[in-house]
Amino acid sequence: MRIILIGPPGAGKGTQAEKIVERHGVAHISTGDILRANVKAGTELGVKAKGYMDSGKLVPDDLIIEMVESRLQEKDCEKGFLLDGFPRTVPQAEALDQLLTRLNIALDGVILLDVDDETVVNRLSGRRMCRGCGKIFNVSYKPSSKGDICDSCDGQLYQRDDDHESVIRNRLEVYHEQTAPLVTYYLAREQLFKVDAVKGDDVPDKIDAIVGRS
Ligand code: ADP
Ligand code: ZN
Repeated sequence: MRIILIGPPGAGKGTQAEKIVERHGVAHISTGDILRANVKAGTELGVKAKGYMDSGKLVPDDLIIEMVESRLQEKDCEKGFLLDGFPRTVPQAEALDQLLTRLNIALDGVILLDVDDETVVNRLSGRRMCRGCGKIFNVSYKPSSKGDICDSCDGQLYQRDDDHESVIRNRLEVYHEQTAPLVTYYLAREQLFKVDAVKGDDVPDKIDAIVGRS
Protein backbone atom coordinates (compact mmCIF):
# COMPACT_ATOMS: atom_id res chain seq x y z
CA MET A 1 0.00 0.00 0.00
CA ARG A 2 1.35 3.40 -0.97
CA ILE A 3 -0.84 6.31 -0.05
CA ILE A 4 -0.70 10.00 0.72
CA LEU A 5 -2.82 11.53 3.48
CA ILE A 6 -3.64 15.20 3.07
CA GLY A 7 -5.92 17.54 4.96
CA PRO A 8 -5.83 20.65 7.11
CA PRO A 9 -3.85 20.72 10.35
CA GLY A 10 -6.05 19.05 12.97
CA ALA A 11 -7.78 16.77 10.45
CA GLY A 12 -6.43 13.86 12.47
CA LYS A 13 -3.71 12.88 10.02
CA GLY A 14 -1.36 11.69 12.75
CA THR A 15 -4.00 9.63 14.57
CA GLN A 16 -5.37 8.03 11.41
CA ALA A 17 -1.89 7.43 10.06
CA GLU A 18 -0.93 5.46 13.20
CA LYS A 19 -3.97 3.20 12.78
CA ILE A 20 -3.39 2.59 9.07
CA VAL A 21 0.32 1.93 9.50
CA GLU A 22 -0.37 -0.56 12.27
CA ARG A 23 -3.04 -2.34 10.25
CA HIS A 24 -1.03 -2.61 7.04
CA GLY A 25 2.56 -2.74 8.28
CA VAL A 26 3.74 0.05 6.02
CA ALA A 27 6.32 2.75 6.77
CA HIS A 28 4.91 5.96 8.29
CA ILE A 29 6.59 9.00 6.84
CA SER A 30 5.52 12.12 8.71
CA THR A 31 7.47 15.17 7.60
CA GLY A 32 6.33 17.04 10.73
CA ASP A 33 7.74 14.27 12.97
CA ILE A 34 11.01 14.09 11.03
CA LEU A 35 11.38 17.86 11.28
CA ARG A 36 10.60 17.91 15.03
CA ALA A 37 13.18 15.15 15.58
CA ASN A 38 15.73 17.26 13.70
CA VAL A 39 14.87 20.36 15.74
CA LYS A 40 15.25 18.37 18.96
CA ALA A 41 18.59 16.90 17.87
CA GLY A 42 19.82 20.34 16.75
CA THR A 43 20.80 19.17 13.24
CA GLU A 44 21.55 21.65 10.47
CA LEU A 45 18.11 20.92 8.99
CA GLY A 46 16.48 21.39 12.40
CA VAL A 47 18.15 24.75 12.94
CA LYS A 48 16.98 25.93 9.50
CA ALA A 49 13.42 24.62 9.99
CA LYS A 50 12.62 25.76 13.54
CA GLY A 51 11.69 29.38 12.85
CA TYR A 52 9.28 28.45 10.09
CA MET A 53 7.66 25.77 12.19
CA ASP A 54 7.17 27.91 15.30
CA SER A 55 5.35 30.57 13.32
CA GLY A 56 3.20 28.08 11.41
CA LYS A 57 4.89 28.72 8.06
CA LEU A 58 5.98 26.01 5.66
CA VAL A 59 9.61 24.95 5.62
CA PRO A 60 11.10 25.69 2.15
CA ASP A 61 10.34 23.07 -0.51
CA ASP A 62 13.96 22.20 -1.35
CA LEU A 63 14.74 21.18 2.24
CA ILE A 64 11.60 19.06 2.49
CA ILE A 65 12.00 17.39 -0.90
CA GLU A 66 15.57 16.36 -0.15
CA MET A 67 14.49 14.97 3.21
CA VAL A 68 11.63 12.90 1.72
CA GLU A 69 13.75 11.72 -1.18
CA SER A 70 16.25 10.07 1.11
CA ARG A 71 13.56 8.73 3.44
CA LEU A 72 11.64 7.03 0.61
CA GLN A 73 14.75 5.12 -0.38
CA GLU A 74 15.18 3.52 3.03
CA LYS A 75 14.64 -0.21 3.23
CA ASP A 76 11.37 -0.17 5.21
CA CYS A 77 9.58 1.69 2.42
CA GLU A 78 9.81 -1.37 0.18
CA LYS A 79 6.79 -2.89 1.91
CA GLY A 80 4.75 0.24 1.25
CA PHE A 81 4.41 3.64 2.86
CA LEU A 82 2.03 6.28 4.05
CA LEU A 83 3.04 9.88 3.50
CA ASP A 84 1.65 12.15 6.21
CA GLY A 85 2.15 15.90 5.84
CA PHE A 86 3.82 15.68 2.45
CA PRO A 87 3.32 16.95 -0.21
CA ARG A 88 2.08 20.28 1.14
CA THR A 89 2.55 22.42 -1.98
CA VAL A 90 2.16 21.90 -5.73
CA PRO A 91 5.96 22.06 -6.29
CA GLN A 92 6.36 19.31 -3.65
CA ALA A 93 3.73 17.20 -5.46
CA GLU A 94 5.52 17.69 -8.77
CA ALA A 95 8.85 16.75 -7.22
CA LEU A 96 7.24 13.66 -5.71
CA ASP A 97 5.76 12.62 -9.05
CA GLN A 98 9.20 12.87 -10.64
CA LEU A 99 10.81 10.93 -7.83
CA LEU A 100 8.21 8.12 -7.93
CA THR A 101 8.57 7.84 -11.70
CA ARG A 102 12.34 7.61 -11.30
CA LEU A 103 12.00 4.92 -8.62
CA ASN A 104 9.32 3.15 -10.70
CA ILE A 105 6.74 3.31 -7.91
CA ALA A 106 2.97 3.83 -8.38
CA LEU A 107 0.69 5.39 -5.76
CA ASP A 108 -2.57 3.73 -4.73
CA GLY A 109 -4.22 7.04 -3.99
CA VAL A 110 -4.30 10.37 -2.24
CA ILE A 111 -6.73 10.55 0.66
CA LEU A 112 -8.14 13.94 1.64
CA LEU A 113 -9.28 14.06 5.28
CA ASP A 114 -12.06 16.59 5.10
CA VAL A 115 -12.88 18.76 8.15
CA ASP A 116 -14.13 22.34 8.54
CA ASP A 117 -12.06 25.19 9.99
CA GLU A 118 -13.95 25.54 13.29
CA THR A 119 -13.46 21.86 14.08
CA VAL A 120 -9.75 22.34 13.38
CA VAL A 121 -9.43 25.30 15.75
CA ASN A 122 -11.31 23.48 18.52
CA ARG A 123 -9.27 20.34 18.18
CA LEU A 124 -5.87 21.97 17.98
CA SER A 125 -6.25 24.66 20.60
CA GLY A 126 -7.26 21.92 23.07
CA ARG A 127 -4.50 19.50 22.09
CA ARG A 128 -1.89 18.61 24.73
CA MET A 129 1.05 16.28 24.31
CA CYS A 130 2.98 14.29 26.91
CA ARG A 131 6.65 15.15 27.30
CA GLY A 132 7.35 11.65 28.49
CA CYS A 133 5.65 9.30 26.03
CA GLY A 134 4.23 11.57 23.33
CA LYS A 135 0.62 10.55 24.02
CA ILE A 136 -1.90 13.05 22.64
CA PHE A 137 -4.78 14.40 24.76
CA ASN A 138 -7.46 17.01 24.22
CA VAL A 139 -8.75 19.17 27.06
CA SER A 140 -12.31 18.98 25.67
CA TYR A 141 -12.59 15.62 23.92
CA LYS A 142 -9.98 13.40 25.54
CA PRO A 143 -8.62 14.86 28.79
CA SER A 144 -6.08 13.07 30.96
CA SER A 145 -7.67 11.72 34.14
CA LYS A 146 -4.74 13.38 35.97
CA GLY A 147 -5.24 16.92 34.64
CA ASP A 148 -2.01 18.28 33.19
CA ILE A 149 -0.12 15.06 34.01
CA CYS A 150 -0.11 12.09 31.62
CA ASP A 151 -2.32 9.24 32.84
CA SER A 152 -0.05 6.68 31.10
CA CYS A 153 3.41 7.71 32.28
CA ASP A 154 2.98 10.65 34.70
CA GLY A 155 4.86 12.92 32.27
CA GLN A 156 4.07 16.62 32.06
CA LEU A 157 1.57 17.62 29.36
CA TYR A 158 2.40 20.60 27.18
CA GLN A 159 0.92 22.57 24.31
CA ARG A 160 2.89 22.59 21.05
CA ASP A 161 4.17 26.09 20.18
CA ASP A 162 2.20 25.95 16.94
CA ASP A 163 -1.08 24.94 18.65
CA HIS A 164 -1.79 28.42 20.06
CA GLU A 165 -4.92 29.90 18.45
CA SER A 166 -3.22 32.71 16.51
CA VAL A 167 -0.72 30.23 15.05
CA ILE A 168 -3.53 27.77 14.25
CA ARG A 169 -5.35 30.48 12.24
CA ASN A 170 -2.09 31.12 10.45
CA ARG A 171 -1.59 27.42 9.69
CA LEU A 172 -5.15 27.23 8.31
CA GLU A 173 -4.49 30.19 6.08
CA VAL A 174 -1.30 28.55 4.84
CA TYR A 175 -3.28 25.35 4.22
CA HIS A 176 -5.95 27.08 2.16
CA GLU A 177 -3.40 29.03 0.16
CA GLN A 178 -0.70 26.45 -0.42
CA THR A 179 -2.03 22.96 0.25
CA ALA A 180 -5.66 23.11 -0.92
CA PRO A 181 -4.46 23.46 -4.57
CA LEU A 182 -3.21 19.88 -4.25
CA VAL A 183 -6.84 18.78 -4.27
CA THR A 184 -7.20 20.13 -7.79
CA TYR A 185 -3.83 18.69 -8.72
CA TYR A 186 -4.69 15.13 -7.68
CA LEU A 187 -8.30 15.35 -8.86
CA ALA A 188 -6.99 16.09 -12.34
CA ARG A 189 -4.89 12.92 -12.11
CA GLU A 190 -7.89 10.93 -10.83
CA GLN A 191 -5.92 10.00 -7.73
CA LEU A 192 -7.92 11.91 -5.10
CA PHE A 193 -10.37 10.34 -2.64
CA LYS A 194 -12.23 12.47 -0.13
CA VAL A 195 -13.07 11.09 3.33
CA ASP A 196 -15.24 12.91 5.85
CA ALA A 197 -13.01 13.14 8.95
CA VAL A 198 -15.19 15.18 11.34
CA LYS A 199 -16.12 12.06 13.32
CA GLY A 200 -12.98 10.11 12.63
CA ASP A 201 -13.83 6.67 14.03
CA ASP A 202 -14.44 4.87 10.75
CA VAL A 203 -11.77 6.67 8.74
CA PRO A 204 -9.36 3.67 8.51
CA ASP A 205 -12.20 1.44 7.22
CA LYS A 206 -13.18 4.04 4.66
CA ILE A 207 -9.58 4.24 3.51
CA ASP A 208 -9.33 0.45 3.25
CA ALA A 209 -12.43 0.42 1.08
CA ILE A 210 -10.83 3.00 -1.18
CA VAL A 211 -7.45 1.36 -1.39
CA GLY A 212 -8.96 -2.09 -1.81
CA ARG A 213 -10.93 -0.74 -4.71
CA SER A 214 -8.01 0.73 -6.60
P1 ADP B 1 0.19 19.83 11.22
O1 ADP B 1 -0.23 18.85 10.17
O2 ADP B 1 -0.42 19.54 12.53
O3 ADP B 1 0.17 21.24 10.74
P2 ADP B 1 2.91 18.80 11.07
O4 ADP B 1 3.38 18.08 12.26
O5 ADP B 1 2.58 18.02 9.85
O6 ADP B 1 1.71 19.69 11.55
O7 ADP B 1 3.96 19.93 10.66
C1 ADP B 1 4.41 20.89 11.58
C2 ADP B 1 5.20 21.97 10.84
O8 ADP B 1 6.31 21.36 10.13
C3 ADP B 1 4.41 22.70 9.76
O9 ADP B 1 3.67 23.77 10.26
C4 ADP B 1 5.55 23.16 8.83
O10 ADP B 1 6.24 24.26 9.35
C5 ADP B 1 6.50 21.98 8.86
N1 ADP B 1 6.23 21.01 7.78
C6 ADP B 1 5.82 19.70 7.92
N2 ADP B 1 5.67 19.12 6.73
C7 ADP B 1 6.00 20.04 5.80
C8 ADP B 1 6.05 20.05 4.37
N3 ADP B 1 5.71 18.97 3.63
N4 ADP B 1 6.43 21.19 3.76
C9 ADP B 1 6.77 22.29 4.46
N5 ADP B 1 6.74 22.36 5.79
C10 ADP B 1 6.37 21.25 6.46
ZN1 ZN C 1 2.99 10.04 28.92
